[in-house]
Amino acid sequence: MPRANTRSNEPALPRREADRLAATLLAWYARHHRRLPWRARPGRAADAYQVWLSEVMLQQTTVKTVTPHFRAFIRRWPTVGALAAAELDEVLHAWQGLGYYARARNLHRCAQVVSGDHAGRFPTSETELRRLPGVGAYTAAAIAAIAYGLPAVVVDGNVERVVARLFAVEEPLPRAKAGLRALAAALASRERPGDQAQAMMDLGATVCTPRRPRCALCPWREQCRARRMGIAELLPRNRPKRERPLRRGIVFWLVRQGGEVLLRKRAAQGLLGGLMEVPSTAWREAEWTLEEALAAAPAEARWRPVPGVVRHGFTHFELELRILVGRLGETAARPRGVDEGQGPRWCRLDRLSDYALPTVMKKVVAHALASGR
Ligand code: SF4
Repeated sequence: MPRANTRSNEPALPRREADRLAATLLAWYARHHRRLPWRARPGRAADAYQVWLSEVMLQQTTVKTVTPHFRAFIRRWPTVGALAAAELDEVLHAWQGLGYYARARNLHRCAQVVSGDHAGRFPTSETELRRLPGVGAYTAAAIAAIAYGLPAVVVDGNVERVVARLFAVEEPLPRAKAGLRALAAALASRERPGDQAQAMMDLGATVCTPRRPRCALCPWREQCRARRMGIAELLPRNRPKRERPLRRGIVFWLVRQGGEVLLRKRAAQGLLGGLMEVPSTAWREAEWTLEEALAAAPAEARWRPVPGVVRHGFTHFELELRILVGRLGETAARPRGVDEGQGPRWCRLDRLSDYALPTVMKKVVAHALASGR
C-alpha cells in the first residue's frame, strides 16, 4: 500500500487506492451497518431534519443514550416546523439526560431559523448549513453528505482515529488534524458520500474502537499500517491534557412548611443558561467562608451544613458544592425575589422532575434528600 503523504502538495492518497479502500468499506457497511432510528437504508437518502437532530444529540453523547430521546423528539415534534413552534422550556425539559444544554437552546433557535427563513427545509450547501445556529463543520458536512448525497468530508474524533490508524499517522493531535482531514477527504467515496460517512462512523464505533480495536473483524485489516506495525491501540497520539481547575460553591437547600423547596432560574446566557437550579453562591476557585456564603443566601434562616460534597465535571472545570439546609416557618419573611416572574419559586419535592434541572443540580437534590434534613 502506498505511503500516505500528508505534508506535500501531492494528493494524500492515489485515487485508485482510495477507490479500492472505499469499495471495501462500503461492502462491509452493506452487511454490518447499525440500524438506527434516524438512518435510511444503505443507498437511500435520509431526512435532513432527522440527520440534523440526531447529529446534534450525538455530540458528546452515546447512541444508547440518544436513541430514546430521538424517538421521543420525533414523536412529539415530527417536523422542524413543529419543533420551532415548541416552547423553549418544553425542549429543555425533553433534553434532560443529554447534557450540554447550550445545544438544546441552539437546536430550538436553529429550528426557528430553518422554519422562518428557509421555508422549513434545511439548506443544501455546507456553507449555508454552517450559518445555522449551533451547526458546526461536522454537522453541516454530515447533513450535506447523508441527507443530500453531496461530497462533504465528515470528520470527527472517530474518523480521525480510524484514519490515523489506517495510515499509521504518529504525529500527535491536534497538530495532525489537517493531515488526517486530507486523508479522509482523499478516501471519500465519490458515488456514495453519505453511506461512506456513516460507514466510517460505524467502523469507528463498533470495530476500530479507542481501546482494543477488533482488527480481526475490520474490512481494512490487510491495508491497515498501524495493525501491521502493532501500534493500533496507541493511535492517534494525543497531547497530554491539562488538569481542569477546581471551583467551589455553596448551595442553599431552603425548605418551607409543606415540603416545598426553593428553586430559581439561571440567567438565559452562559453556563446552564435558562435552566432551574437550587440557589447557590457563585462558583469560584477560592474556598468560601461561612460569612461570605451567607451574604448570598436567599433568605435568613438557621443554616446547617450537610455532610459531604457534591462533585461534577464540566468541560473546563471541576465543581465541588457544599450544601447548607435552612427551614422557613409559615411566618417567616419571603425569600428575596420569590414568585416574581421567572425568578425564584417554590417547588414541591415530588414535582421536581417537572423542571429542567441539569445533572449537577440533580446530584444536589439527591444529596440533600439523602441527608434527610
Ligand atoms: Fe482500526 Fe484495526 Fe481496522 Fe486498523 S485494522 S482500521 S486498527 S480496526
